[in-house]
Amino acid sequence: MKYSLNVAHLYGNLLNTYGDNGNLLALKYYGKQMDTQLNVKVISIDDDFKATDFDLAFFGGGQDYEQLIVSKDIPSKKEELTKYINEGGPMLAICGGYQLLGHYYIGADGEKIPGIGALDHYTLSQDHNRFIGDIIIKNKQTQEEYHGFENHNGMTYLGKGEKPLGIVESGHGNNGQDKTEGVIYKNVYGSYFHGPILTRNGSLAKKLLITALERKYPKANLTKQKALKIPETF
Ligand code: GLN
Repeated sequence: MKYSLNVAHLYGNLLNTYGDNGNLLALKYYGKQMDTQLNVKVISIDDDFKATDFDLAFFGGGQDYEQLIVSKDIPSKKEELTKYINEGGPMLAICGGYQLLGHYYIGADGEKIPGIGALDHYTLSQDHNRFIGDIIIKNKQTQEEYHGFENHNGMTYLGKGEKPLGIVESGHGNNGQDKTEGVIYKNVYGSYFHGPILTRNGSLAKKLLITALERKYPKANLTKQKALKIPETF
């Protein structure tokens, strides 16, 4: 294939609930149609993460137990992950991964699980309740509609410079109160959607790939229009 992208699967052996790994299958599927090979590497406990080694990153969700394990290792990667994000590296973060990019998550048992604070949100917990079920959101800027399934205890509140991935049309979203769902910050997309999100929402998969390709191959004439015409029939 003409192009290749190095993909970091952050803590892929720990945070991979509800078929989140299917997001990588979707990226490979759309990547192939863009003449792009994806080289996926799991970056987990004690592994090095270097911002310049990767063109795309995926951070899945998980139970509080695994999140707590990850939260003890992730400070060692904080600097490089923050650099990757601030330099415009594309990333998809789902649920637990999304929470860990923010300041902290108060787990279901009241434990404080620290995040890296690369993004300005924080997450509280609900008392004996979870947000579970189908969800539909709409991004008012792009008019894109995303469909998915949410399952989380956390209630996330967005901070400075963060925009929601979409506004809730049906379902609960970030916190069940302010109608926001997920986040967009630079080229980071965070969401509570499992399902997995990219198999059901091909436009987001293509957006991540196009962003990564344009960063890595600025001189190549990768026509966005052509990529966007690839049918979303995963
Ligand atoms: N443990 C977190 C919560 O319950 C994240 C769950 C998940 O990744 N599905 O909010």
